[in-house]
Amino acid sequence: VTSLAEILAIGDELVHGFAVDTNSAHIARELERLGVEVRRVTVVSDAPGALRAALGEACGRADVVVATGGLGPTEDDRTRAAAAAAGGVELRFDEDCWQGVLAWFARLGRTPPESNRRQAWLPAGARVLENRWGTAPGFCQRIGRAELFALPGVPREMVGMLELHVLPWVAERLGGGAFAFHELRTLGIHEAALGERLADLMAADHEPRVGITAHFGMMTVRIAARGSGTADAQARCAATAAEIRARIADVLAYEGAEPLESIVVRELGRAGATLAVAESCTGGLLAARLTGIAGASAVFREGVVTYHDAAKTQRLGVPPALLAAQGAVSEPVARAMVEGLLERAGAEFGIAITGIAGPDGGSDAKPVGLVWFALGARGRVRTWQRLFSALGREFVRERAVLEALVALRQALVDPGSVSG
Ligand code: ATP
Ligand code: MG
Repeated sequence: VTSLAEILAIGDELVHGFAVDTNSAHIARELERLGVEVRRVTVVSDAPGALRAALGEACGRADVVVATGGLGPTEDDRTRAAAAAAGGVELRFDEDCWQGVLAWFARLGRTPPESNRRQAWLPAGARVLENRWGTAPGFCQRIGRAELFALPGVPREMVGMLELHVLPWVAERLGGGAFAFHELRTLGIHEAALGERLADLMAADHEPRVGITAHFGMMTVRIAARGSGTADAQARCAATAAEIRARIADVLAYEGAEPLESIVVRELGRAGATLAVAESCTGGLLAARLTGIAGASAVFREGVVTYHDAAKTQRLGVPPALLAAQGAVSEPVARAMVEGLLERAGAEFGIAITGIAGPDGGSDAKPVGLVWFALGARGRVRTWQRLFSALGREFVRERAVLEALVALRQALVDPGSVSG
């Protein structure tokens, strides 16, 4: 029998929409990796009654409950009190916990304000969980059939404490079997059409589980396979992946959970090559994505945002006559942009993007969503156009960035793909 888990994200800011609960997704993935099934994720406010009820109910249904948030020293941090109430015990001052708070402040060369003592009042019988990443200690406590783990809300602290305290306990007490995951990403097919191809694999009772999520035109097919152990789970996952691969070969862009920009930066490093980008309609989004990856400085030369026609001439040397005759969104201009870019930046790889993001500015000949790309790779240039669905400015821009990243990845892992 599979052990059951529930996750509780605690905080008014989450309920009112001022922050988004990202902790739960991380916790769910990590728990399922150990073979525990996450049945329910609850987002609940700091209101004492709601919080106590949510904790009590989750602990009545699951074998392990992981809660995040509400462990700070202020009046609105109520997880300790609510857990005590849900477990039918008093709050007690925990000297170990207080020493942990003092030690954290001492490391920063400070003494804590008196209000921090609140953090050392834990439910009677609870065990303190050391927080090496911040002030708020966590705790764990048995309530009903469940072991409750209360962790801080700050994502960085939560991640560290989950790994240090929760996952080892779960692996030892509840771990039965294991999960393996795999992701296949597609471009150029709609969700419904993709769903039709995989319908039988996506049935509710199908094992391994197969699901589709859409993000700016890229579909992710996710496989979650359960097995008796890691090797068994991986084998089941691989078998389903092979089946899916055969059905979607024509639209498969790449596989794996690693973000595209991270693959591109890594492959550039492996190739000992550098990259420059020239962006018009994407306005620097591509450069921002690439420079968001640690280590980009070793491979990313520069990004230029040549928005106005005059800038395409000044920065990239695109002839004004070409712009006048062909328009900025055209094959010759995209080509001239990347040629000028590579010459000036001295990079081995370059990409230029010019298109019409909308909602205005389209014409019959050049509708909104039309984007020209030019990819330069070690002296060879390939150009192509795409007509993206006019689903708004953000969609066209994000979709164009995706297209560029997929093309760059392809050029790096399969140099033969750039001919011309
Ligand atoms: P602290 O002592 O640091 O305040 P805490 O346990 O009281 O810890 P919260 O005050 O609830 O934590 O949240 C601290 C920060 O973490 C806030 O910026 C909040 O937006 C963020 N945060 C809280 N819960 C989540 C969550 N489920 N997902 C993502 N971020 C979260
Ligand atoms: Mg707080």
